[in-house]
Amino acid sequence: MKITEVQLAQVNDRIKALIASNSFYGKKLEQAGITEVKTADDFLKLPFSEKADLREAYPLGLMACPEEKIVRIHSSSGTTGTPVIIPYTQKDVDDWATMFARCYETAGITNKDRIQITPGYGLWTAGIGFQLGCEKLGAMAVPMGPGNTEKQLQMMQDLETTVICSTSSYALLLTEEIEKRGIKDKIRLKKGVIGSERWSAKMRERIAEGLGIELYDIYGLTEIYGPGIGINCEHNTGMHIWDDFLYLEIIDPNTGLPVPDGETGEIVITTLCKEGAPLIRYRTHDLSRIIPGECPCGRHYPRIDVIAGRTDDMMKIKGVNVFPKQIEEVLAKFPEISSEYQIRISHLDGKDTMRIYVETNGSVDFADLAKRIAEEVKSRIGFTPIVKVVEIGVLPRSMKKTARVIDERFN
Ligand code: ZN
Repeated sequence: MKITEVQLAQVNDRIKALIASNSFYGKKLEQAGITEVKTADDFLKLPFSEKADLREAYPLGLMACPEEKIVRIHSSSGTTGTPVIIPYTQKDVDDWATMFARCYETAGITNKDRIQITPGYGLWTAGIGFQLGCEKLGAMAVPMGPGNTEKQLQMMQDLETTVICSTSSYALLLTEEIEKRGIKDKIRLKKGVIGSERWSAKMRERIAEGLGIELYDIYGLTEIYGPGIGINCEHNTGMHIWDDFLYLEIIDPNTGLPVPDGETGEIVITTLCKEGAPLIRYRTHDLSRIIPGECPCGRHYPRIDVIAGRTDDMMKIKGVNVFPKQIEEVLAKFPEISSEYQIRISHLDGKDTMRIYVETNGSVDFADLAKRIAEEVKSRIGFTPIVKVVEIGVLPRSMKKTARVIDERFN
């Protein structure tokens, strides 16, 4: 997706604001000798921004407008080290509400719906974003916040809520509780708007069938407004991204160069009209791909696929980007193997080699199974791995997170 003239003008405007305000990024751009972008090629020369920079700008270094225009801040959770603080002007809050209301509309939700919001309210952007969009749309918000399943289910029945907003994990928990209590006939839910953590198709089906509802994936991150910057439509062919507010690129995380539409890479986002904390080419570390072509719904907003994972998961083998998720999906087709597997990547005689260890019991032909798995993996990722079949219990077990990928090339 090439940047348009309109978007380029918007970026230029943001660059000027960053520099004029003497903000953290303004100084960085000046140091790099950048004062404006004129062409799409100029844009591609702009440096990326990273979460580490945002931490360095703590607490209010990102602010790119006079302080009296700031109406609130949000903060990312900061599980490691210094948190990130994002200041918002009233226009930023309004724009976010507009995008979020558009998400609800795209999911077919109207001002007659009653929306039960279970993500948390507070410094982070989750609950409050769902609320903003709901009010902008004119629907009725039921601002529950997280937890207290008993009360959630009570309100869901008494208020006859029609939309549930939650994480996929919590949606699954609610599904199971509703089934356990036999109250499905008292529930009026029609749709679920689910925050885009990575979730399997199996889990999606379980929730959709269990609750008898349609599910929508919503995308966003605190650094870029929050949730609500994109959602899938009724055709479920990827998430439409609001490109009147954001410019989205997919890059190869190793080289930083754009990948062709349709190929998986890292999502990089530029805010086109944010005032409080504009971000230029922000690396999200989320992996997805542009879905080429037009959506059957007729909306012209570009689409990205559901989030495939994080860049930290990616392996580059024989010049091909491979994700553990792809191997996992292939292995899931073989009922005769256990859930445990191990991938070892090495570099021998000038060549990358991938070995996959899987477990099975003694009743199958190991050599034949290895051959079938290798063929299936090749058809998925394009090259043949060495598959080693071992007895169940041979691969390491862990009480915490099991290391499934071992890259021996850099040792
Ligand atoms: Zn669509």
